[in-house]
Amino acid sequence: MVKKIIENLENSNCSIDNTFIQAVSEVLNSLEDVILGDDRYETYAILERLVTADRMIQFKVQWVDDSNHVHINNGYRIQYNNALGPYKGGLRFHPSVTPGVLKFLAFEQIFKNSLTGLPIGGAKGGSDFDPKGKSDFEIMKFCRAFMRELHQYIGARIDVPAGDIGVGTKEIGFLYGEYKRINRSYDGVLSGKPYAFGGSLLRPEATGYGVVYFAQEMLKQELEEVLEDQICVVSGAGNVAIHTIEKLQHIGARVVTCSDSEGSIYDPNGIDLNILKTLKGNGKRFSLEHYALQIQGSVHIKKADYPDGRHAVWDIPCFAAFPCATQNELTEEDAVTLIKNGCVAVIEGANMPTEPLAIELFLKEGVLFAPGKASNAGGVAVSEFEMSQNASMEKWSYEKVDAKLNEIMCQIYKRVALTAKEYGKERNFVDGANIAAFKRIAEAMILEGV
Ligand code: NDP
Repeated sequence: MVKKIIENLENSNCSIDNTFIQAVSEVLNSLEDVILGDDRYETYAILERLVTADRMIQFKVQWVDDSNHVHINNGYRIQYNNALGPYKGGLRFHPSVTPGVLKFLAFEQIFKNSLTGLPIGGAKGGSDFDPKGKSDFEIMKFCRAFMRELHQYIGARIDVPAGDIGVGTKEIGFLYGEYKRINRSYDGVLSGKPYAFGGSLLRPEATGYGVVYFAQEMLKQELEEVLEDQICVVSGAGNVAIHTIEKLQHIGARVVTCSDSEGSIYDPNGIDLNILKTLKGNGKRFSLEHYALQIQGSVHIKKADYPDGRHAVWDIPCFAAFPCATQNELTEEDAVTLIKNGCVAVIEGANMPTEPLAIELFLKEGVLFAPGKASNAGGVAVSEFEMSQNASMEKWSYEKVDAKLNEIMCQIYKRVALTAKEYGKERNFVDGANIAAFKRIAEAMILEGV
């Protein structure tokens, strides 16, 4: 049955992107035994309904740059499934954005959101707009034009977008400002807002901090290990990478790498977070080359000079690896190197950063592997906390949000580990996450009828 559904998708015109097929195949292959165990899934055509998005919205975004030139970009919102609650998922602004990439991200999002145990469905959106090299005014004009189209499809109880690659607090602020101008309504219609008007404390840090909370719990329960004093490698230099590094440093781990789309930094003395933030914090996009120029003993390894465009990050011996940049950035070859160098755990901060053959190898060789849909769910969890605060017009303290985030990450780990065990797949957190998430969504879909 699973094979047939994947074949149908491969043959259909709408599944134009390999990353979408990759994401669907990974999930459905985990579910074979579950499907056989309950005939309601077939009766209600749950798998067929689950792989089909509720709706895919595409719109034109026209805006004028600082030199009065007109530009046209594509805007998208994919509302994938709202069986568990309002559609929820980030907006990505990056030239690589296509409907296929967003479809994979939206599909992953429904499972991630289900794992949090919170009442949120799954969606994703964005544009092929490239914020790199644009002035703040140009970004503002683009965001306003984007929201002039998007506003009609979203709402605090309908669909609540957040940030993702290229969309941070600044962009969400511009988007929210335009929404408010059009609708005259102070709704919690976006999360990741500036704190000044409805944002939650800890939302910018939440994904990265949550990744580390998940890693700590997994290492404690599975290996009785801690991250303190251990060498860790992190890829990326954006929101998720910076806050993963920050929390790892808080707990005494030694992070020796970071990277961007042009190259990687290796700093054997530990990444200097202050310098990294001056180059990449709050959506800044200066080259990492400046890091090596400022910090003695560190090196900048250009991606273009590296074999097959791989990240140099995965060649550095480490205890744990945290891929936090983008999809398919850790290959089978990288997995071989990490294992050879003694890495005991890989915890995904990005969405689907590890290629399927690399995951297979980690599982086979007993490396603990935490899939992003479980380990990076802290961001969306705190987004839901922001929705709760907005709905009740409350402001929660930093300590309260942090404690709830930590608790939710430990619960996700427990849910995933127990489910894997229940289905005879101990320590296979990929299957554990897919099965646990699926069962919750499928139950809701059955109960609400077709
Ligand atoms: P940012 O835009 O803040 O940072 C992205 C980072 O990844 C940048 O350092 C960027 O480098 C690098 N990068 C982007 N594309 C590539 C590429 N093709 N090759 C190498 N490096 C690349 O995004 P986030 O940190 O928010 O997101 C990172 C990942 O985490 C994504 O997979 C996202 O979907 C996922 N995620 C984000 C959440 C959030 O709360 N923000 C929540 C859950 C998951 P450069 O600056 O050179 O482009």
